[in-house]
Amino acid sequence: MCGVFGVHGHPEAAHITYLGLYALQHRGQESAGIVSSNGREQLVYRGMGLVADIFSEPILTKLPGRHAIGHVRYSTAGGSTLRNAQPFCATTDGGPVAIAHNGNLVNAVAIRRELEGRGAIFSSTSDSEVIVHLLARSREGSLEDRLIDALSRVKGAFSLLLLTDDALIAARDPWGFRPLVLGRLDGGFVVASETCALDLIGATYERDLEPGEVIVIRRGRLRTLRPFARAPRQTFCIFEHIYFARPDSNLQQQNVYAFRKELGRVLAREHPVEADMVVPVLDSGTAAALGYAEESGIPYETALIRNHYVRRTFIEPSQSIRHFGVKVKHNAVRGILEGKRVVLVEDSIVRGTTLLKLVTMVRQAGARSVHVRVSSPPTIGPCHYGIDTPSRDELIASTLSVEEIRREIGADTLGYLSLEGLRTTSALLKQGFCDACFSDEYPVPAGDDESPPQLSLFHDVEPDGSEGGSLRRGGRS
Ligand code: AMP
Repeated sequence: MCGVFGVHGHPEAAHITYLGLYALQHRGQESAGIVSSNGREQLVYRGMGLVADIFSEPILTKLPGRHAIGHVRYSTAGGSTLRNAQPFCATTDGGPVAIAHNGNLVNAVAIRRELEGRGAIFSSTSDSEVIVHLLARSREGSLEDRLIDALSRVKGAFSLLLLTDDALIAARDPWGFRPLVLGRLDGGFVVASETCALDLIGATYERDLEPGEVIVIRRGRLRTLRPFARAPRQTFCIFEHIYFARPDSNLQQQNVYAFRKELGRVLAREHPVEADMVVPVLDSGTAAALGYAEESGIPYETALIRNHYVRRTFIEPSQSIRHFGVKVKHNAVRGILEGKRVVLVEDSIVRGTTLLKLVTMVRQAGARSVHVRVSSPPTIGPCHYGIDTPSRDELIASTLSVEEIRREIGADTLGYLSLEGLRTTSALLKQGFCDACFSDEYPVPAGDDESPPQLSLFHDVEPDGSEGGSLRRGGRS
């Protein structure tokens, strides 16, 4: 998954983009990048890791200009390497362009094969690079027309930003899978994946981009285009609401936290249980657990504490510690849990490993019984549109029944929100949704790209301590 952010017409465009990416960090932690434009040339800096670790004041001052776009990445297509870090930059005969893409294209492998067959050389393994190639090869005139031509050929999900030397272009696929919002800041424009990024920089929210909408912002003026054929319906990703987006964001003008709480209420009505406390799996289950507690009247306790400073790798003693990984992230509060009947609320179960460990931990801390409640239906299918879910056979609910999962994770009872409950709650938002991961109803078939072949025949070897990034210049050729 990824987050995108762009600024047009601000004297500190790169700094503002840095802050925007900071607020969108939850959407991708593998790599980040910013490209700025001073009207003549573009400067790019990309690195592996977190925004705060990649960018420093000296680097940001080397990214001058009044326009910029940025990207945070968590790989869903293509490996985790600096070559796949975005924004992607290209020098076209129309000038330099940079592209930042959120979403997954379902026909990228097929297009890539076709282009490679005609001599194109790709420099990354990311699906987003096909857009750059299609744009560079397009016979249309202006860069916006070339972009539209390129986007008309791809299928799947895109919320995309393109920076030219003087324009910021933003586009959303006709289905509207991924979010994209427009805001204003000090007379300039900002575009971001989520409203929490607007809040951080003090921008005002203007509106969501509509599915299939393209906006072109040039010399302080915004033009709206609707160049794509309409999709049969809007299919906004429901998992953004359930888990992915930040709870302080509004998606489709609906607050995420409030929606999650409502799911918790519905869950409490669908799966009531006699218990002494409702405990969230922090942080993802928090809002749903509050909703469950309020609806059921059972007290809410944060009896699982989360360590917020967990990194991806740990140095373990050579005698490995049982369930070390999960204990680093969560610990149970014995003094609260001892002798109690506990409802453990989580937003989703993917492979089932988290809950297996947490149920065991809560029991070992003295809980009398553990009742697991999940504020989404069983995850039975992978996402083809940008959420990083494992393949179908790794999804516990695709092979096991609810009763079998209950046994597997060691809970006394297990209750998932029903698909009907989710759909009824979502309908309140008056939007169309994609819930393919729960319903197996895919609005855009993945076709040949369902199990993409390994594209990368060689791998980057990074020198020790090479977590940093690279600065490049791209101008008119
Ligand atoms: P698992 O242990 O595989 O069952 O993972 C379940 C946990 O992962 C839950 O806490 C979810 O909040 C979280 N989760 C669900 N989907 C994703 C995703 N695509 N990326 C990262 N975490 C996820």
